[in-house]
Amino acid sequence: MTIDKYDPYDFANRRHIGPTTAEIGAMLNVVGAPTLQALVDETLPTNIRQADDIEFGPPLTERRVIERMRETADKNRLLVSLIGQGYHGTTMPPIIQRNIFENPAWYTAYSPYQPEISQGRLEALLNFQTLVCDLTGLGVANASLLDEATAAAEAMGMAKRIAGNDAETFFVDRDCLPQTIAVLRTRAAPLGWRVVVGDPFTDLDPTAVFGALFQYPGVGGAIHDFSGPIAALHESGAVAVMAADPLALTLLKPPGEMGADIAVGSMQRYGVPMGYGGPHAAYMATREAHKRTLPGRLVGVSIDARGNRAYRLALQTREQHIRREKATSNICTSQVLLAVIASMYAVFHGPRGLRAVAGRVHRDAVRLADGLSGLGFDVGPKAFFDTITVEVGPFQGVILANAVANGVNLRKVGTDCIGITVDERTRPDILQAVWRAFGGDHIAYDEAWPEPRLPADLVRTSDFLTHPIFHLNRAESEMTRYMRRLADRDLALDRAMIPLGSCTMKLNATAEMLPISWPEFSEVHPFVPEDQAAGYRELIDDLSRKLCEITGYDAISMQPNSGAQGEYAGLLAIRAYHLSWGDGHRDVCLIPSSAHGTNPASAQMCGMRVVVVGADPEGNVDLDDLRAKAEQHADRLSACMITYPSTHGVFEERVREICDIVHAHGGQVYLDGANLNALVGLARPGDIGADVSHLNLHKTFCIPHGGGGPGMGPIGVKAHLIPFLPSDPRMGEEGAVSAAPYGSASILPISWSYCLLMGGRGLTQATRVAILNANYIAKRLEGAYPVLYAGKNGRVAHECIIDVRPFQKSAGISVDDIAKRLIDCGFHPPTMSWPVAGTLMIEPTESETKGEIDRFCDAMLGIREEIRAVEESRVDRQNNPLKHAPHTVQDLVGPWERPYSREAACFPVGARGMDKYWPPVNRVDNAYGDRNLICSCPPPEAFGEAAE
Ligand SMILES: *Cc1c(COP(=O)(O)O)cnc(C)c1O
Repeated sequence: MTIDKYDPYDFANRRHIGPTTAEIGAMLNVVGAPTLQALVDETLPTNIRQADDIEFGPPLTERRVIERMRETADKNRLLVSLIGQGYHGTTMPPIIQRNIFENPAWYTAYSPYQPEISQGRLEALLNFQTLVCDLTGLGVANASLLDEATAAAEAMGMAKRIAGNDAETFFVDRDCLPQTIAVLRTRAAPLGWRVVVGDPFTDLDPTAVFGALFQYPGVGGAIHDFSGPIAALHESGAVAVMAADPLALTLLKPPGEMGADIAVGSMQRYGVPMGYGGPHAAYMATREAHKRTLPGRLVGVSIDARGNRAYRLALQTREQHIRREKATSNICTSQVLLAVIASMYAVFHGPRGLRAVAGRVHRDAVRLADGLSGLGFDVGPKAFFDTITVEVGPFQGVILANAVANGVNLRKVGTDCIGITVDERTRPDILQAVWRAFGGDHIAYDEAWPEPRLPADLVRTSDFLTHPIFHLNRAESEMTRYMRRLADRDLALDRAMIPLGSCTMKLNATAEMLPISWPEFSEVHPFVPEDQAAGYRELIDDLSRKLCEITGYDAISMQPNSGAQGEYAGLLAIRAYHLSWGDGHRDVCLIPSSAHGTNPASAQMCGMRVVVVGADPEGNVDLDDLRAKAEQHADRLSACMITYPSTHGVFEERVREICDIVHAHGGQVYLDGANLNALVGLARPGDIGADVSHLNLHKTFCIPHGGGGPGMGPIGVKAHLIPFLPSDPRMGEEGAVSAAPYGSASILPISWSYCLLMGGRGLTQATRVAILNANYIAKRLEGAYPVLYAGKNGRVAHECIIDVRPFQKSAGISVDDIAKRLIDCGFHPPTMSWPVAGTLMIEPTESETKGEIDRFCDAMLGIREEIRAVEESRVDRQNNPLKHAPHTVQDLVGPWERPYSREAACFPVGARGMDKYWPPVNRVDNAYGDRNLICSCPPPEAFGEAAE
């Protein structure tokens, strides 16, 4: 007998890389290249090729990686953290953990830009928005922001836009979270705004500010009625923002009822573990009047082609990808998965349950305070929700150490106080441990309910969550089915390829996902003492080393929570670098016309002037134009932002020259690393001449998209920019870009596992296959659709743009019609109309097998034939399967008067028989939804059908 040398656990080849060796051979034949290496040689300019292979050891097996993760997790010491300061222990209900958090139907979905295949998560997000509106007492809420600190910064920006005065100062309650104050300072500085921190009742001059932020309850526990300062702000045209704890809001008077214009906060304690800083969803709500200036995505209600209710993203024209350098925010990826979890936590508990959770938290805080008062400590404030501050004089150090010895982290406040924050997870033995730390060894936990100590005049009297969705029968059977129904409405990577150009929707391997559920990673408070997070330290250090090796940079900052945040952090580093030389006047940022919308939006947020550089007919940066503009602005040139390979999916030959021109005129090069999936192992941004890049770990490094977040956008920099990387937010000082030092640290094990599983060689092979897959699609489609842009040997990089504009003329068929028809074929449409209007950008990634890619190509070719039928007048220009796409189960019943069969409608090439994906709605009418804007759950009368 012969023993097969095939290794069933060879991860790199059998999991992440779709095509088998035989399939790669067949695809190379179609593409017309003898070997994979030959294809790469024809594709990637030799002058940027990296000399050495990535070297970080051989690939590990799945089992070994999981063991390695376990060893690392065990190096984190998991104590109970009653530190508070914006992060709280919480219980993710197991039903949500398994059915959403750990369910690829939810976590592998893309952002809901194609509403017909996103109805499930759009409904969950609408529930989220309704939840936030109800809690805050405000009329409209967005579908999440990145964290509380950046949400407060977005609110500051919004306040500036809507204020009725010309002040340049923003006031911040000194009782705000220090990390929020830090991010506000960072955001204000480049825009020339002043941040003043003080006591709202004594230090606020309402006539001198465009807005103010109040924390409710404050970081030290105090709960104030801000109606007075808010009314005074309104007198002078200034805007009132409140950062409010959503659990406290179930018991306390909401910000809207105090007159606040904007409310922000973190939904973390709605069932999302602390995760050493993230990810969690932040919320933002405002009055109806300001909905058009609200940053971030907003889910709204509309109708489909049959007039049935359908959800979709509303008011898209507000967003950065449309407004570019006129954008007021760069927010793109946000925190959809976490917002979904928070909304489900509210559906799971309902208003009564949430109030009960909050009530229990409050009463434990009262017990805690009483116990400490009984020991003779001075405990404040008088009225509180979950947080107290204890005066301990010279005993601060001893007590904090005692607490740790008893398994509890408390918060150090100044030099002589200790802060304690109780949460949903607090149990009698935890309170006793705290008492012990303060010297109270024998205090008994009294089961009797103590008198609440909420401020009497701020107790909530208004109802919330009255909508039926928050009153489901709470049997687990019902709840499970509700989540399943929503998941079934959506098309995620667990069902089909998502060929989205620039978004790199690759495999999120299960083995990589496992560790993020482990408490040793998920339940660590971001501000625990360093020695309790040794596992995280090791992970972050090693992943940073690997990312440096991959990119050719000298250091990495893990702080930015998205690609756009990375751009912002990178441009700030450039700005600070110039300032350090006395070159603070350098403020011009050159950006090619083809750049992603977040690029100009980020530059604008850094106070830079955007100068657009044109493209030549091949889609490359127009070098003459670049040179001319760099010369023209030489005195003021700060940076140039380029994307490589270009957003047109091509490796430009002259990228080094671009960098040289920018450097020669005193500028720095920002290379948008979103397309790193085409470079890993083959070329390094740091070698090409770039100074700084962000890497989208939720694209190239396997963190799932979560339906529109979470993400991680760490930046890599060359040595000269290291001093200007983001600083620690805990200090409250300018320089931080996120609330937590390492951003959404708890999802980093995914990217780290990916690197370990693949090894350097595996990663490089993935890049080659990504390039092969894209070129294979380009080849298979080129006879039917013109492929726009290619390198000098006719090759595309890791994605390709196909031109469907001619069909508008020849058949009246738009890019939308083709995209929606692909849904009938069982596919998520590719990126539409970006970077070139009216085209489709396709990126298969290395993860897709030849079988799935062929199914996609066959579907595209089938669609081409349907277009031809229209072109040849065999089918009506208006009444055809493309115009009516997508088709639903509804189309199978009732009268049918179309000139094509129901079978042709529902089962085009590519559609699977028994496993057909049925979109839940027909084509969604976007304009209708924007004309009739509804951004919370529709009223109960209209509700029956969606809940069934
Ligand atoms: C995805 C992407 C970004 C933005 O990343 P987010 O994480 O969504 O903020 C920026 N540039 C390019 C080219 C991208 O594809």
